[in-house]
Amino acid sequence: MMGLMQDRPLLISGLLDYAERYHGDAEIVSRTCEGTVLRGNYRMLADRARRMAQALQRLGVKAGDRVATLAWNTHRHMELYFAVSGLGAVLHTVNPRLFQDQIAYIVDHGGCNVLLFDISFADLVAGLRPRLPQVTTFVAMTDADHMPASVEGALCYDALVAAEDGRFAWPQFDERSASSLCYTSGTTGNPKGVLYTHRSTVLHSFVVCQADGLQLSSKDSTLLVVPLFHVNAWGVPYASAMCGAKLVLPGPAPDPKTLFDLAVAEGCTFSLGVPTVWLGWFKYLDETAGLDLAALKLNRVVIGGSAAPRYVIERFQKQGVFVIHAWGMSETSPLATVGNLLPRHAGLSPTEQVDVQVKQGRAIFGVELRIVDDQGNELPHDGTVAGDLQVRGPWVTAGYFRSEGGAVVGPDGWFSTGDVAKVFPDGFLQLTDRSKDVIKSGGEWISSIDLENAAMAHPAVQEAAVIGVAHPKWQERPLLLVVRKPGTDPRPEDILAALAERVAKWWLPDEVVFVEELPHTATGKLQKVKLREQFRNHVLPGA
Ligand code: AMP
Repeated sequence: MMGLMQDRPLLISGLLDYAERYHGDAEIVSRTCEGTVLRGNYRMLADRARRMAQALQRLGVKAGDRVATLAWNTHRHMELYFAVSGLGAVLHTVNPRLFQDQIAYIVDHGGCNVLLFDISFADLVAGLRPRLPQVTTFVAMTDADHMPASVEGALCYDALVAAEDGRFAWPQFDERSASSLCYTSGTTGNPKGVLYTHRSTVLHSFVVCQADGLQLSSKDSTLLVVPLFHVNAWGVPYASAMCGAKLVLPGPAPDPKTLFDLAVAEGCTFSLGVPTVWLGWFKYLDETAGLDLAALKLNRVVIGGSAAPRYVIERFQKQGVFVIHAWGMSETSPLATVGNLLPRHAGLSPTEQVDVQVKQGRAIFGVELRIVDDQGNELPHDGTVAGDLQVRGPWVTAGYFRSEGGAVVGPDGWFSTGDVAKVFPDGFLQLTDRSKDVIKSGGEWISSIDLENAAMAHPAVQEAAVIGVAHPKWQERPLLLVVRKPGTDPRPEDILAALAERVAKWWLPDEVVFVEELPHTATGKLQKVKLREQFRNHVLPGA
């Protein structure tokens, strides 16, 4: 027998409607690309998002169309989060820090006709333009006074908004419709698109607001450090509309000083970011005399994307800030496990509490997880054996956009994360390794395979392997191991110079080490695990 409750769709526009009606005055403070600080609120966000939706429709955007952004955390980017998805179109947030080839690939693969960009990326867009034949409409996310000359024919975002009246009712449609698209650089081949739905996004928002989730509420002032182009900024834009949390958007390329000043000025209680951000934060605190730490109101900081370093958890603890260590990935929206303490941890000493916090937390309701061996047999959650981590749930991907990479989910819905983990009897997860070989530098992926391919293009390189080596600031940086071609004698700087023509500057290996040979498996694949073991204690220059 079916129940008799209403089947109202869970739509992103519903979050905005709610925020406007019940938290219209809650502030959204944005540091803009024009160098100002704009004080808005959810009422203004809703009004401008409706106008932008009207403008996008006028530009020909229809349900299901992908609309790309190359933008920082600003009020305009937030407006697009609701305007594009609210229309039934798909917000395709592109990471501007990627190498140009990847940006071109991602925009093209996403099939976008419209690209909206911050003025700080105008030159980047102008350079990419010949490689984006599908994009017919460029919109500069600025006002009439700051229109960039470099992107010819670009429309002005604020002019588009001003030209509409905002009388617009959000369409109702199937909650399983696509809402946003984020690309993740996997281990092999090209980046893959994770296509979120309205339903997955709204369900994920409940977890962000849950007391045993990220505890976001209307009492919070949130410093949104995690970029809007990283897995939907961990779902916070939607969740903050769900609960009416104040939002502080730090704008273009925020440095630790900017973040600190904003946190103090806006009374921020909550923040989120990858470990590198917080390592930079404490470095700034240590190097800057006269900071008024007592003026900080932070009480919770979410750390994910890479393992939260013990040092960072301890430093925050000393300042009365609880670190919520979370694990997830683009494919899991991203929240899958969250590290909150349980009642039985209350009596623990500060050091013992940190022992709990360095683990990656426990699964939240909605996410099932298990570890399996090479044959796919389930392994015990005994805190001892490690296995391949698999997850399933309503905000876990069912496949990549345009099936890139083929089927990724087993017959029972289990998604293989590529991470290796132990699970303790009380459900706490501990990541032990990555079965992937990508290098994570400051929360951003560096593909070892791309670097190897680039290195192998050098005439004196016979074989190359790139592995991640621990780094105090960036968690990991690439180390390039090279077997020279017989009779050649290249210098490290020659090889790096050749690489610099093919990859982004921050991808360049911190060091090139020449070796006689590289270890291989029986099928001729590089044995990265062995290499990582061999270079485990290697200290990179400058580390
Ligand atoms: P992304 O899709 O870019 O968010 O990257 C997801 C990957 O980042 C995961 O598969 C993990 O390898 C890694 N990761 C995310 N959170 C954590 C964490 N708390 N500790 C260790 N690794 C993490």
